[in-house]
Amino acid sequence: MSNAPEKFTAAVVDEFGPEVTVREVDLPEPGRNQALVKLQASGICHTDLHAAEGDWPVKPPLPFVPGHEGVGEVVKLGPGEHDVELGDIVGNVWLWSACGTCEQCRTGWETLCNDAEYGGYTVDGSFGEYMLVDTRYCARIPEGADPLEVSPILCAGVTVYKGLKMTETRPGQYVVISGVGGLGHIAVQYAVAMGMRVIAVDIADEKLELAKKHGAEFTINAREQDPAEAVMEFTGTGAHGVLVTAVHEAAFGQAINMARKGGTIVFNGLPPGEFPARIFDIVFKALTIRGSLVGTRQDLEEALDFYARGLVKPTIAECKLDDVNSVFEDLRKGRIDGRMAIRY
Ligand code: NAD
Ligand code: ZN
Ligand code: ZN
Repeated sequence: MSNAPEKFTAAVVDEFGPEVTVREVDLPEPGRNQALVKLQASGICHTDLHAAEGDWPVKPPLPFVPGHEGVGEVVKLGPGEHDVELGDIVGNVWLWSACGTCEQCRTGWETLCNDAEYGGYTVDGSFGEYMLVDTRYCARIPEGADPLEVSPILCAGVTVYKGLKMTETRPGQYVVISGVGGLGHIAVQYAVAMGMRVIAVDIADEKLELAKKHGAEFTINAREQDPAEAVMEFTGTGAHGVLVTAVHEAAFGQAINMARKGGTIVFNGLPPGEFPARIFDIVFKALTIRGSLVGTRQDLEEALDFYARGLVKPTIAECKLDDVNSVFEDLRKGRIDGRMAIRY
């Protein structure tokens, strides 16, 4: 039984721009396959800022509540069968739901389903006291997890874990993590846990300190030296894999000169622009360049299992729902070390 109120407080994007409005919204009723969740915590992803600003070519319908790293308790179940119960601790994710029947869904690519719904983008997300999840796609939070600490795994964690797998870097080989923000500082930890040798690149010394703390062998400040030259010097022939999580276009072109011949570059970061690339370098080095979008439910389960086994531990600082606008401002300026998470 739920004691949920008729209205609750959420951070809403009423129009695209730098600020959300913290205001009352109506409590939604869980439909078929859905559950109502009372939030305990939510991470704040840079994607939420892109969403609020309407940065990307495909924009979310207005108004909407951002947030796709929410953790909370199931307080009401909609009609139908569910394999979560009242009282379970679950999370919302970017891949909020998919059709389950298309070619992508049937071949391990549900993240690319044309009928997918995105948490905090096409469906209201976790920047509010309550949210809906689809119980077939929601995250199951490991028992005993700290809700704030685990929240960044739901997007940042699964995204970089999948991205690292897509680089096909093997244990003992070099991987560059370019951008050590919310995604990147967790990527360093997954890469170390997966046996890779980590080189971290960012434009702020504090981020590089954090990367070292989490196990990076070598760090490069791209403001002070050419990061590709530094990678070449350190590795001799370049990195086997490069994972770009940076929010600036410049980092994407640089990845090409960081990779060794036959290497694989994976793009996770999503600045809205373009990057220059010399075709000759890509061909003569026989590079693979891939985009990677969050992860499947299976990737999520694996990513959460690394957390449950103590192999990754997000660096978080907590804030309140009222602080979302100032956190957005800090994200824009690159002033956040690790991840900010809202405590409800
Ligand atoms: P963040 O703001 O926490 O981190 C971004 C980092 O990039 C910061 O540490 C910043 O200093 C660094 N940076 C900026 N310019 C750089 C440069 N030139 N070289 C190296 N580093 C640089 O953001 P976040 O939450 O980690 O998200 C990063 C990006 O990933 C965003 O664009 C976000 O939308 C995207 N994202 C993509 C997916 C996906 O599925 N592909 C999932 C989540 C987030
Ligand atoms: Zn995200
Ligand atoms: Zn589908």
